[in-house]
Amino acid sequence: MIQMQDVKKTYPNGVAALKGINVDIKPGEFVYLVGQSGAGKSTFIKLIFREEIASSGTIKVNNKDLVDMKWKDVPMLRRDIGVVFQDFKLLPKLTVYENVAFALEVVEQSPRQIRKRVMEVLDQVGLKNKARFIPDELSGGEQQRVAIARAIANYPKLLIADEPTGNLDPDTSWEIMKILEEINASGTTIIMATHSKEIVNTIKRRVIAMEDGLIVRDQYRGDYGYEN
Ligand code: ADP
Ligand code: ADP
Repeated sequence: MIQMQDVKKTYPNGVAALKGINVDIKPGEFVYLVGQSGAGKSTFIKLIFREEIASSGTIKVNNKDLVDMKWKDVPMLRRDIGVVFQDFKLLPKLTVYENVAFALEVVEQSPRQIRKRVMEVLDQVGLKNKARFIPDELSGGEQQRVAIARAIANYPKLLIADEPTGNLDPDTSWEIMKILEEINASGTTIIMATHSKEIVNTIKRRVIAMEDGLIVRDQYRGDYGYEN
């Protein structure tokens, strides 16, 4: 699903955020990305959906070469990738229904298909009965569930979650993890950046640990490995 070889990223201000990343993530894997703030996790994630471009090295995502990719091909790449953020990033003036439908309308589906799929994914995250609410009327956990519904609406092969439980209390975080596990069980590859020692040490998965722009540990069913 993702192959990186000697990937480096230096931002225009001279900060070397990634200093030579080598990684191979297979379809269907669930990967935790851990490491202190500033280690390079967000940069790693942004390279995958081409929010940022690598300075050197090779990146393949879903068999597409991201180094030679033209801008016009980026939307096609992103159709296969769902992204969930710590701060949800919902459109505040749209209803739950509309926030999810919006993701489908850009992919040119019929109104009937859109309606069916929106209700299906809202059902999957347990929010079918809140379709008419706006984000402000929902709890943080519910807002994150809407964001997940939006992210999976187009059946992405890969779901990227950047600290999806970072703003949530422990009980709500476990609910979100349960949904992510179900999505993974259905075959979607998941990469999740997290600072949650509890989650990583309880739901054991592959752990990729980053420090100062490098992968310092890559372990199947690994531990969190930091104090917090
Ligand atoms: P993490 O997600 O692990 O906290 P980041 O990838 O956000 O790490 O950051 C890695 C390094 O790159 C940090 O030193 C950070 O300050 C720097 N950085 C991140 N984004 C930018 C940017 N847009 N411009 C310049 N430096 C950046
Ligand atoms: P059910 O299948 O349980 O009858 P519906 O598909 O009728 O559920 O819709 C469930 C909720 O989603 C209802 O509150 C409904 O009003 C809302 N909803 C359905 N379609 C839309 C839409 N196009 N825009 C806004 N809300 C909608």
